[in-house]
Amino acid sequence: PKIVQVRKLYKIYDMGEEKVYALRDIHLDIRKGEICCIFGPSGSGKSTLLNQLAGLEKPTRGGVKICGQIISRMDENELAAFRQKHSGFIFQSYDLLPHFSALENVALPLMFAGVPLKERNKKAARMLRRVGLQKRMSHYPNQMSGGQQQRVGIARAFINTPEVVFADEPTGNLDSKSTKEVMEMMVAFAREYDQTLILVTHDKDMAAYADHIVTLHDGEIVQEEWKKEEEILI
Ligand code: ADP
Ligand code: ADP
Repeated sequence: PKIVQVRKLYKIYDMGEEKVYALRDIHLDIRKGEICCIFGPSGSGKSTLLNQLAGLEKPTRGGVKICGQIISRMDENELAAFRQKHSGFIFQSYDLLPHFSALENVALPLMFAGVPLKERNKKAARMLRRVGLQKRMSHYPNQMSGGQQQRVGIARAFINTPEVVFADEPTGNLDSKSTKEVMEMMVAFAREYDQTLILVTHDKDMAAYADHIVTLHDGEIVQEEWKKEEEILI
C-alpha cells in the first residue's frame, strides 16, 4: 500500500520580480515500509520537498496525501495534530532541547501524547538503551558528542512508533563512523515495525541503505529507482 502520494505539486517562492520554482510538477508515490532517499545537489529542492511531505510547509499548488489524509488541504492546527500523531522528525542539527536531559528529550513526544510520567520515562530509558546510550540518560545535549546527540534524536523520533519518519540531512554534521551508526540505527528501527523512512541527503553512500531513490534537479524529479531486495543493506 502507498503511504505517500504526491500529485502535480508546485512550490513557488515569490521573490518580487522573479519567481523561484523550488518544486515543479512533482509526482511521487512512496510505499509503506520503504526507506526512501531523496538526493540532489544543493538548491535542488530536497528540503522543500521533505517539508511538503512532512506537512511543515504548504504547497503552492497540488496535492499531498499521507496515511490516507490529504494534508495539502489542512490548516495549521490540523497539520500540527497530524504531525504529532503520525510522524517523527530527525534533523541535521539534532534540535534537542538544551535544558532537557537525554531521557527528557526522548520522552517529549510521549508527553505531548499524554502518556503518564512513569511510563514515558520507562519507555524513553528503553529507547536510549537501544541506541547504546544507557550511560548517558541524564546527560544534557552539550555533554554529548554529535553522534550521541543524533542517537538521542533517533530515539525521540521513533519512540511513538510513528508511521513515517522524516530526516533532513541526518548525518550532515557527523564523521564517517557516526554516519554509519546513525544510518544503521534509523534503518533498523524503521524495518522493525515496517515504518516508512524518508530522508534527504546529498551523500551518495546513503543509497546503499535505500530501497527507493529519488533524485531532484532544479525542483524536478530527474531520476527514480527501486532496488531489488538482494541489493539492499540490512
Ligand atoms: P536543497 O534542500 O536541495 O538544498 P531547498 O529545498 O533548500 O534545496 O531550496 C530549493 C530552492 O528554493 C532554492 O533555489 C532555494 O533558494 C529556494 N528556497 C528555499 N526556501 C526558500 C524561501 N523560504 N524563500 C525563497 N526561496 C527559497
Ligand atoms: P562519538 O564516537 O560517539 O562521536 P566522541 O569520540 O566524539 O564520541 O566522544 C568521546 C566521549 O567524549 C564520549 O563518551 C562523550 O561523552 C564525550 N564527549 C564528546 N563531546 C563532548 C562534549 N562536548 N562535552 C562533554 N563530553 C563530550
